[in-house]
Amino acid sequence: MVRSPLIDGHGRQIGDVRISVTDRCNFRCQYCMPAEGLTWLDRDGVLSFEEIQRLVGLLAELGVRDLRLTGGEPLVRRDFPSLVAMLAPLVEDLSITTNGFLLERDAAALVAAGANRFNVSIDSLQRDRFFEMTRRDALPRVLRGLETLAAFPEAHPIKVNAVAMRGFTEDEALPFARFAREFPYQVRFIEFMPLDAGHTWSPDQVLTGDEIRAAIHAVFPLEAEPREPHATARVYRFADGQGQIGFINPVSEPFCGDCDRIRITAEGKLRTCLFSLNETDLLGPMRAGATDDDLEQIIRDAVWRKELKHRVNEPGFIQPDRPMSAIGG
Ligand code: SAM
Ligand code: SF4
Repeated sequence: MVRSPLIDGHGRQIGDVRISVTDRCNFRCQYCMPAEGLTWLDRDGVLSFEEIQRLVGLLAELGVRDLRLTGGEPLVRRDFPSLVAMLAPLVEDLSITTNGFLLERDAAALVAAGANRFNVSIDSLQRDRFFEMTRRDALPRVLRGLETLAAFPEAHPIKVNAVAMRGFTEDEALPFARFAREFPYQVRFIEFMPLDAGHTWSPDQVLTGDEIRAAIHAVFPLEAEPREPHATARVYRFADGQGQIGFINPVSEPFCGDCDRIRITAEGKLRTCLFSLNETDLLGPMRAGATDDDLEQIIRDAVWRKELKHRVNEPGFIQPDRPMSAIGG
């Protein structure tokens, strides 16, 4: 069935949904989770595979073409490749954001299930610094996972995402530039956002994309690629043609104007912005017997109120209670 497109109150058409398939994670990244003391949702409180399939099917009827599965760490959800196989036929593009720890085990099954794009998060190419940031000594294993994935042509282009924090990422810029030149990965630096579990974010901890770009450009000259509509990253190619590098600058250069994204948390709450202070429950109505038409109306009403932009740089900004791991980045 085709329904009319999902449009927000500012005229933006929603084309991209990001679903968190679990709040659990096997890492404890400093900018995302506390070192310990998190309580997980119980299994009953999380969307089932069938519920996710129903929501994605309905959103596809409403014009959503791109689906990203994330978490928490999506690969820790039991039978995750089976979920991917259920969802891939419903959308044009199915991507997965992962910390890579279980990719050695799952890459083949995920590609076979229909995942066609992957973002692998790596914050440092040095083992001790990776450990410091993620609180897990897992860099060699993550790199093996990346290599396993890279063996599948269907998985390319593979993106490697690094969160950029002042006092840490300055020393990573050139090693990542060399990495992006040597291997077939597009490395992207993401500015640290106020979505950390400890609520200790401050603007001076953000290392801006522009600063990193300038440092890389001084050694390996860069040329800008045109920006694709709805894109989060500003992409540059190395002037000698050897690879690409990207910058996701939500803090210093917000890209809210043509944002076409919505998010659904592991417990079935619809969020219209990473920084939303309100969310809309979908799981409760689904389990209470809502029809697809009822759900469509709930989703349309929420999307209509989608925020024009985030207010991270404005006085009075309030950080959402949920950290990134509970939103689905
Ligand atoms: N566990 C998976 C991973 O790390 O790729 C998927 C979920 S994680 C929440 C999604 C992305 O959000 C990762 O690339 C992570 O680095 C990024 N992230 C988490 N907290 C962040 C923050 N406070 N600011 C910017 N990016 C953040
Ligand atoms: Fe886990 Fe990803 Fe958050 Fe790191 S960024 S703690 S890997 S959810």
